[in-house]
Amino acid sequence: MSLGFTIEKRPFIEFTDSRSLTHEERHKLRVLSSVYAAAKIMELDDEVSKEAARIALSLYERWHSLKVTEVIAIVLAAAAEKGVAVTRESVERAYERLTMLSKGRLVTPTGYVFNEIKRKFLRVMMELNMKINKDDLIVSYVNILANAIGADDASRMPMIALARSIDRSRPAYSAAAAVEFFNYIMRLDRDSESLWKMLWPPVERKRFIIDGASVAVGAGDVEAPEPESRSVTVVCASCGARLFSVKHEPPSPVIFDISQIPFHVPAVCPHCGARLWDGNRLMIRSVKVLYKFRHNNEVMMIRASALMPMGSSIAIREIERPS
Ligand SMILES: [Zn+2]
Repeated sequence: MSLGFTIEKRPFIEFTDSRSLTHEERHKLRVLSSVYAAAKIMELDDEVSKEAARIALSLYERWHSLKVTEVIAIVLAAAAEKGVAVTRESVERAYERLTMLSKGRLVTPTGYVFNEIKRKFLRVMMELNMKINKDDLIVSYVNILANAIGADDASRMPMIALARSIDRSRPAYSAAAAVEFFNYIMRLDRDSESLWKMLWPPVERKRFIIDGASVAVGAGDVEAPEPESRSVTVVCASCGARLFSVKHEPPSPVIFDISQIPFHVPAVCPHCGARLWDGNRLMIRSVKVLYKFRHNNEVMMIRASALMPMGSSIAIREIERPS
């Protein structure tokens, strides 16, 4: 049976007969058009857009109309199912664009709107029994945040390894906590609060505070030791020698952040002569990080530990390179 029109990807509508659309068909087209507009603003690929369109039509049948917040929630659900991360800014811009289309004026989303989108997102996921692809989502978040701090491709692998070891059930937080740690070691953009502000769902302040860290550098099998609170330790991955160790002594701020401690690694290990740098790249063998995490007004500790494949490295910004 002919629908009387066909819809292409973006949506391009071509009438194949002379009849006009029914009220119902016009509604569906408007929904699809909104879904594609939102997906495009969020820079989501065709796979996610098509999935979002499929979800939108199925929910339209059940709910009989879709609000702007629901359309955005549907697109976010499709992205989460495919393991694609979305930034808070993308959601804001999509909301502004859709309110422009439906109301004729741009409306800036408030905290209430964000909560509404989060609520609808959960409803979409539950109603259609959808699963979030958390493994891919962690990688996707790391890539977005690594782009934001200007990290090169090769440096992302240690970030992903650390993010996976933090808390797999919280892809956004884990990615931000891991990228923040390397942001500090790589001496890139020091403003880590801005990384946390990029996340969707919105996070007002960073959730994981780095409380201690230890790193094994160079090539070898010696793992970084267990990190102690408020300290940074660097060991040689070949011989285990302690290359650098500093503890932040009191008096210190209540909310302590390890990024206030300097981080220095010599060009070669003074004990065994192992090379620790490859040009401006610091060879990273393993990292262990102690995070403080606030949950229901309680401070909890999370230990994250990641062993990197041999040859992993991160690019340190030029001015910090040892002479
Ligand atoms: Zn050594």
